[in-house]
Amino acid sequence: MSTRIEIDHAGGVRSLRHPEKAHRPDNPIQRKPDWIRVRAPNHPIYHETRALMRDHRLVTVCEEAACPNIGECWSQRHATMMIMGDTCTRACSFCNVRTGLPDPLDATEPGRVAGAVARLGLRHVVVTSVDRDDLPDGGAAHFAAVIGAVRAASPSTTIEVLTPDFLRKPGALEVVLRARPDVFNHNLETVPRLYPGIRPGARYYQSLRLLDDAKRLDPSLFTKSGMMLGLGEQRAEVGQVMDDLRVANVDFLTLGQYLQPSVKHAAVESFVTPDAFAEYAVTARAKGFLMVAATPLTRSSYHADADFAALRAVRAARAA
Ligand code: SF4
Repeated sequence: MSTRIEIDHAGGVRSLRHPEKAHRPDNPIQRKPDWIRVRAPNHPIYHETRALMRDHRLVTVCEEAACPNIGECWSQRHATMMIMGDTCTRACSFCNVRTGLPDPLDATEPGRVAGAVARLGLRHVVVTSVDRDDLPDGGAAHFAAVIGAVRAASPSTTIEVLTPDFLRKPGALEVVLRARPDVFNHNLETVPRLYPGIRPGARYYQSLRLLDDAKRLDPSLFTKSGMMLGLGEQRAEVGQVMDDLRVANVDFLTLGQYLQPSVKHAAVESFVTPDAFAEYAVTARAKGFLMVAATPLTRSSYHADADFAALRAVRAARAA
């Protein structure tokens, strides 16, 4: 995707996808190494999943973020729904999600998400959202409504929420946690030194505190966070972020390669090799995370179903 004029499904002209990036100089997109290559999606179940998302008028981060794993995930009916619209109030330089002023919340969305989860027959669902700094609670009550609707329709499905940072939204985290998700996920995304360029609207310590608060408020909750590598971070800085996350008692760490969505986005500074990811995983496990997923194609919601089952098993084994 790029910062171009788009035609929407109804044939209308939509605004620039990333107006705030239009004036930026181009960052040429590097050729991806062989280990990043993925197959074009063409499995019949991929098309079924796509049709089901359209039927339920749902937005997915899989599509909006141009995730390279979409062929694999959707062929297994694993789609990650992105609630509260397709337009984000932040302007992170790594992210492909459209930016601008979002539409008002749609009260039918929790029911539509729950309907899709039931039809997909998911054991575990990941629900994420755009940032909604325009809402007084950052969208916390809407998250809670989605969790409630999915619980009611699919009581055995476990629910993972991947939330915004709820910066300057006091009480928002509590609202989400009262709805009792099984996993609370919030991504730190990168090392603190790179925040001004990569997550200019966010604050590293706010994100860290959110994860710390989530665990304090509900110690039985699984907490999870992730980073993209290849943005210019140093190994020692990644190690420090791991230590920070362990101080916040985060259970599960995901590390994946940053991929540049367009010439207007932050440049890939390096392609981290699979071996280097494996070394990061060894380091992270030594620091005490219950689970670590670290490969070039790892994303927050990649293999989230199987990983959640493993996460529960590891916690149970340690408790025993
Ligand atoms: S890794 Fe996550 S965002 Fe990417 S396609 Fe799979 S479920 Fe969607």
